[in-house]
Amino acid sequence: MKLFVRRFYAMFFAAIAAVTMGFVVTSCSDDDTPSTGDAPQYITNEQLARLGCYTDLHLHLDGSMSIQAARKLARLQDITLDMSDEELRKQLQVEEGCKDLDEYLEKFDFPGKLLQTSVGITESIKILAQELKDMGYIYAEIRFAPQKHCQKGLTQREVIEASIKGRQEAALPVSLILCCMRGDDTHEENLETVRLAAEYLDKGVSAIDIAGAEALFPTSAFADLFQLAKAKNVPFTIHAGEADGPESVKVALDYGARRIGHGVRSAEDASLMQRLVDEGITLECCPTSNLNTAIFQSISLYPFPLFMEKKVKFTVNSDNMAVSATNVIREFQLLNNAFHLTTDEVKQLLENSISASFASESLKEELRAKVNKAFLQDK
Ligand SMILES: [Zn+2]
Repeated sequence: MKLFVRRFYAMFFAAIAAVTMGFVVTSCSDDDTPSTGDAPQYITNEQLARLGCYTDLHLHLDGSMSIQAARKLARLQDITLDMSDEELRKQLQVEEGCKDLDEYLEKFDFPGKLLQTSVGITESIKILAQELKDMGYIYAEIRFAPQKHCQKGLTQREVIEASIKGRQEAALPVSLILCCMRGDDTHEENLETVRLAAEYLDKGVSAIDIAGAEALFPTSAFADLFQLAKAKNVPFTIHAGEADGPESVKVALDYGARRIGHGVRSAEDASLMQRLVDEGITLECCPTSNLNTAIFQSISLYPFPLFMEKKVKFTVNSDNMAVSATNVIREFQLLNNAFHLTTDEVKQLLENSISASFASESLKEELRAKVNKAFLQDK
């Protein structure tokens, strides 16, 4: 749909949407171009706030530690946190004017210090899951790099077992994604992460990923990791097309990635977008994070209309709730402020997330039922 048509309808229906307290969604349309007599229903930020059927497929444990969680984790581990809330916030959240992904990644040092014991890891997953549930989430895929939690003597296996314990006691269904790390000295640790992912697959762990400074350490340098994952039938998503360009997404697809973390720079390459459609690949989009790391200078430049027009499947995620001071609801509202989403589009994005998740088929059915129910009743 052309942007000006979207804007015209948005302006025309914004006033109506603003006072509409209820909405009923019929089946999702294949074509989001409005036709005469079949006007799109725009969703309001208030409706988004109370929807109560959110999921997050791209959520880093260390980047999503709230101030309250940091205090609780410190207490549990006898760590003294002699800081005000404002000082803590500065440790956990990126400041405006962050230059790039490398500077953004510096904010992971502090929360990492609170995630070096089994208790800390188990409790951090439970606390995060409870916070998500309280906000109206119904499912989350939480990711972390086991090798980053071994600074006080834990093995990667112990880290993973502590996280599985947290997942088992979590307030909502959680899948765990184990991240390998980009770097020039992480090879052995990464291979161990893949082997352990295979061992704990379907016991709480659902996939692997690779995170870290994408432009400094391109995905192409890590082929053997994903060959091993493939050989062991471990599904994977790969951070690509964020700091690095469309080529990095192609490399990830060539490896056999089921999803792409971010992948927004696919918008720079028409043939790549078509490949994503043809291969049924879903992008894990995280708009605020991309603004923080200066991938886009403004949300109005985000390729939301382009992906909708080209029928590229994407999902809305928070990436790092604390570092980016966000959550999935705010991400939807941010997109809504810029592009005026219809209820059909929001429902489609939530359904994309469920379909692309690493959840079991039976859990996916449960989650879809919750989304349908949420859209049939105004809360
Ligand atoms: Zn990420």
